[in-house]
Amino acid sequence: MPVGEGVCPRCLEPIPLGAHFCNRCSTPLTFHATTGPYESIFAEGFAYREASSNPRKPIILIGMWLLWGPSFAVSLLMFGISVAACFEQGSLPWILVPLFGSGVCVWFTGALLFKTTKNYVRIREEAEKESAETEDFEEPRSSAWED
Ligand SMILES: [Zn+2]
Repeated sequence: MPVGEGVCPRCLEPIPLGAHFCNRCSTPLTFHATTGPYESIFAEGFAYREASSNPRKPIILIGMWLLWGPSFAVSLLMFGISVAACFEQGSLPWILVPLFGSGVCVWFTGALLFKTTKNYVRIREEAEKESAETEDFEEPRSSAWED
């Protein structure tokens, strides 16, 4: 196999020479993919997408909450203040800017955290169900003792 050619570590798609991302699943493949100015944004987006859709370990869930939790809390607070200001001072046009801005932040961070938590719970439940089924299968027959 020539240097620089191989397969994607995630989906095993063959990778052309010099490619920074997998053509099929967009996994970052090279050092450049995670350090380039444009590519790092892309790789970061991939990491968050991967973390939020497939949080198998508690540390990923905790990490996402530590990373996005404060942003969510601050934007929610901002949104609350903007809404309160709307009611107090009437609907002034300028209040729409922080109202809209914080609203988008609440929606974005909230959706990300909700998705991560929901998927984490789902994965845990699936894992528990799987292990319960395995236990049932491996349980020794109690009738063997009665004979
Ligand atoms: Zn791939």
